[in-house]
Amino acid sequence: MKCPECGEEMEEGYVTGAYGFFWAKKKKFFYTLGDEDTERLFVRLWDWYQARLVGYKCSKCEMIIFYYGERGERLLKEKEENGEG
Ligand SMILES: [Zn+2]
Repeated sequence: MKCPECGEEMEEGYVTGAYGFFWAKKKKFFYTLGDEDTERLFVRLWDWYQARLVGYKCSKCEMIIFYYGERGERLLKEKEENGEG
């Protein structure tokens, strides 16, 4: 994947989190799963893995892009099937 800012090839890898990834439009002191304005992007609940999603990093721009939801799950599965997961 090419970086949308500088156009150089991005490095493929994993973005990891202890529990999950969430999205919120508002800045808050604390985010909880039950908040209506907090969207769950990806959560690991029933296994020992940390939450992880396939991501693309540009070190020059200090930016990471990752896919979540069904597309994120599909990319993870593809990497695991290729022996990379
Ligand atoms: Zn870049």
